[in-house]
Amino acid sequence: MISNKKALEMVDVIANMFPNAECELKHDNPFELTIAVLLSAQTTDVSVNKLTKDLFQKYKTPEDYLNVDISELENDLRTIGLYRNKAKNIQKLCRSLLDQFDGEIPHTHAELESLAGVGRKTANVVMSVAFGEPSLAVDTHVERISKRLGICRWKDNVRQVEDKLCHVVPRERWNKTHHQLIFFGRYHCLARSPKCDVCPLFNDCREGQKRYKANLKEA
Ligand code: SF4
Repeated sequence: MISNKKALEMVDVIANMFPNAECELKHDNPFELTIAVLLSAQTTDVSVNKLTKDLFQKYKTPEDYLNVDISELENDLRTIGLYRNKAKNIQKLCRSLLDQFDGEIPHTHAELESLAGVGRKTANVVMSVAFGEPSLAVDTHVERISKRLGICRWKDNVRQVEDKLCHVVPRERWNKTHHQLIFFGRYHCLARSPKCDVCPLFNDCREGQKRYKANLKEA
């Protein structure tokens, strides 16, 4: 693994590449954001935004989601993956909001993670984006690039990646860094075709070097 100092230098380079990175899930309030993040599991933000454009017109409150039969909600979500499971979790989440939280999205990690379909990543995103609390959510992009760059070990689990990043990056930068790392993974260091040939981190990146040597051998 690289040193913390080197890791922060890499995060700084990424920050310079994407200074305006922000949440790409469209939403108008914490409730909509929570639903959108829940829907985004194994689905692109673009697909979720296409869906929520109409969904959020029809369903504005937890009651709205509970006032329809599950089959109707499933039908409304059918354009995205895992829609049956997501429909079930949304109704369970809405039931919990009404029973335990006065219909509002709670403001703590523990309370958020008690909701159906909400894991640590979703809770971190909601705490950060909706409430401005320092959090560094690790999604598939953040995990991949942290490992490719050697900031974390390949065998690290998601929680270990989060802990390492939170250790390396100053707390006041966690929220912004989360979005910048996602943009870097989404638009530059893509899963299947990273842009190593134009990457400012190429010289220090173990994955980039590995790919370069493999290409040389093939040539
Ligand atoms: Fe990603 Fe390639 Fe850049 Fe490494 S060199 S960070 S693998 S794009």
